[in-house]
Amino acid sequence: MRTAAIVTVGSELVEGLRVDTNTSEIARALNAVGLTVLEATSVADRVDLLTEVLKRTIARCDLVVVTGGLGPTHDDVTREAASKALGVPLLRDPRIESLLMPIAQRHARPEAAEQVLTQADVLAGATVIDAMTGTAPGLVIPTQRGTLALLPGPPAEMRPMLAKVLEGIDQSRPAPAQMGVVGLSESDAQLSAQRALEDHPGVRLTVLARPGDVKVILVAESTDADGLHAAADAVAGALGEHVYARDDSSLAAVVIGDARRAGVRVACAESCTGGLLAAALTSVPGASEVFAGCAVAYENRAKATLIHVPDELLRRFGAVSREVALAMAVGAREVFDVDLSVSTTGIAGPGGGSAEKPVGLVWFGIADGEDSFAYERRFPAMGREGIRDRSVSYALDLLRNRIRLR
Ligand code: ATP
Repeated sequence: MRTAAIVTVGSELVEGLRVDTNTSEIARALNAVGLTVLEATSVADRVDLLTEVLKRTIARCDLVVVTGGLGPTHDDVTREAASKALGVPLLRDPRIESLLMPIAQRHARPEAAEQVLTQADVLAGATVIDAMTGTAPGLVIPTQRGTLALLPGPPAEMRPMLAKVLEGIDQSRPAPAQMGVVGLSESDAQLSAQRALEDHPGVRLTVLARPGDVKVILVAESTDADGLHAAADAVAGALGEHVYARDDSSLAAVVIGDARRAGVRVACAESCTGGLLAAALTSVPGASEVFAGCAVAYENRAKATLIHVPDELLRRFGAVSREVALAMAVGAREVFDVDLSVSTTGIAGPGGGSAEKPVGLVWFGIADGEDSFAYERRFPAMGREGIRDRSVSYALDLLRNRIRLR
């Protein structure tokens, strides 16, 4: 197993003044080339603390990626800490010094000019990655176990340099296998996947859950591409039709792609989801080829006027009912003149529930040609947003299944 650590440097990060986006971005990139990230740490701008963290991570990991603290100011301590942690001196690099000279000369005070030139101090034995957008160059230094990479903090400067560092890493390990799962809880997905992996050692399982959507990630720890592929097939087989994608596509993207391939035009009518379903579908580039539109028909009058839900149904059965869900889907299909439509109407809470119609009750309608169907879901207490998010995933899954049946 090849291992990595990520260290982000900056008091603004540990004080909560700036959100550390570098860690997740770098972690995903390292994972994608088969490195297992063991540690991600943020450290204040202090040489002593950073030296300690670097000593520990360098001893344990094959690759340590550090971002931030490479600039010219007194609180930029990364070069000095790396020099201390590795016991390697900093040497002024004349080539970088000459590149920095025009910037240094803009400063009237000699101390300020010298500060700029400290960015030309390079650890002995380091490979320099020239700055493409900012001024601080990146440094890649061999360690006893592997590599230490010092990269600038601003994400736009860090990103191309990280790509350079990863070019130099042995990428023979296969990229992780991913799949998207809908209609199963995180623990059910985890249990089924774990059981399927019993015959496939050397593969690490990670399950990430969001309301209504579970991502399964398989990393080859001590197997090759064929072994990972076989393990992914076994997991996909165990999860069956709950698997909506064998990559990192979103459920909405899968629905749009399936609709495009099947030549199906889609619309929706939303009550309790208030446009979230349409937002998910329209977040997919090119959605306009197949998605006609959505009626957010929240109050009863809007249901009647926008998508022609008969008043009588609303009065007799209430807005959250099989009959109204069906009428909403049928109405949206007609109004938008599409092949297939889906509707949502439910009680997201926290108020508005009753013994008969509790919070979490959501009805969904599907209108497909002459056929229309309604589905009832009773989501557990998971808060208003949780119920709305689950409803969106469920409605997308209804569309996915319906398109596949055509
Ligand atoms: P520079 O050459 O720009 O001085 P640097 O390596 O010294 O680079 P820092 O001074 O530590 O970088 O950070 C500069 C800015 O980069 C921060 O103010 C912040 O906007 C951004 N930044 C730093 N670290 C992170 C991080 N982990 N995640 C997101 N943004 C970051």
